[in-house]
Amino acid sequence: MNFMYDVIIIGSGPAGMTAAVYTSRKRLDVLIISENVGGQAMYSSEIDNYLGYKYITGEELVEKFSEHINSFGIKQEFAQVTSLRVEDGIFTVGACNGGEFKAKSVIIASGKTPRMLGVPGEKEYLGKGVAYCATCDAPMFEGLDVAVAGGGNSALDAAIQLMKIARKVTIIEKGPRLIADEIFRDKVTAAPNVEILTGTTIVEIRGSKFMESVVVEDGASGERRTLPARGVFIEIGSIPATSYLKDIVDLNANNEVIVNCACHTSLPGLFAAGDVTSVPEKQVIIAAGEGAKAALASYKYLIKLRR
Ligand SMILES: Cc1cc2nc3c(=O)[nH]c(=O)nc-3n(C[C@H](O)[C@H](O)[C@H](O)COP(=O)(O)OP(=O)(O)OC[C@H]3O[C@@H](n4cnc5c(N)ncnc54)[C@H](O)[C@@H]3O)c2cc1C
Repeated sequence: MNFMYDVIIIGSGPAGMTAAVYTSRKRLDVLIISENVGGQAMYSSEIDNYLGYKYITGEELVEKFSEHINSFGIKQEFAQVTSLRVEDGIFTVGACNGGEFKAKSVIIASGKTPRMLGVPGEKEYLGKGVAYCATCDAPMFEGLDVAVAGGGNSALDAAIQLMKIARKVTIIEKGPRLIADEIFRDKVTAAPNVEILTGTTIVEIRGSKFMESVVVEDGASGERRTLPARGVFIEIGSIPATSYLKDIVDLNANNEVIVNCACHTSLPGLFAAGDVTSVPEKQVIIAAGEGAKAALASYKYLIKLRR
């Protein structure tokens, strides 16, 4: 029979890692199952709103989180969770590697994943020009023409990183204006090598072995043209990683897990924290705080079970 954990935490971003520290300090048997360590925080080129650090890169902050986790000797399994079911109060978490793990409670901390454009060529040129993480991939485009899809903070954060490296950066935003914060907008509009196209959509990504261009369509005239681009960074938002939760727990219209102020979901023993939840603010410090709350809620639930 499988080992029975007190808590399984799904996801190792700021929410999951904080939950792991809190549950471990309560001497619970904890397992984290995650596809990677750090989650979206790894994509942030600079974080200047996490208390205690005036400025730190996402990668450095995750390194510090990992050191903290490792000091507790918390068990970690690197895999994608594909299913979650519950029977008689016992949760079974299924992973893509065929593994099955059992626990008395589960904390969902699987965050968000990038939204895709859904245009021809996007899948074909993934890793051959199509990218979703400027912090990870921008250095590969030194001296080249690149495009950025989107007009929010993530898109402009990507454009700001790229404009220091690439020959030319074209920001392509579907809506009538850039919706990013003013501080980001000021930086890109002042840059000599950034062009901004609003009211414009990418309709196709083309190339041969590697991508070579994007086909864009003007929303007003319907006119299409081809822009040379050796890379395109797709920064059009993200979707909650909840596909493995089908029918087990209540989700809102955005497919986020609905939680109350103590991180309880609609199912006893199942808690959730961070960007995957209905809590509207999506920030590292908030995800971490919610992770702590979910861990304490799970501890209280387990104490009640023991009585
Ligand atoms: C470009 C960018 C810049 C940002 N800049 C800032 C900033 O400056 N300041 C700030 O406060 N916030 C910033 N954010 C937001 C911040 O990164 C997120 O709010 C935070 O990372 C959310 O943490 P989380 O733990 O809830 O989820 P995530 O960070 O999304 O982590 C989720 C974890 O779950 C794992 N996972 C997902 N699905 C599965 C599955 N099925 N099975 C197993 N594991 C799974 C993932 O691999 C990951 O480890 C930024 C985000 C981006 C994208």
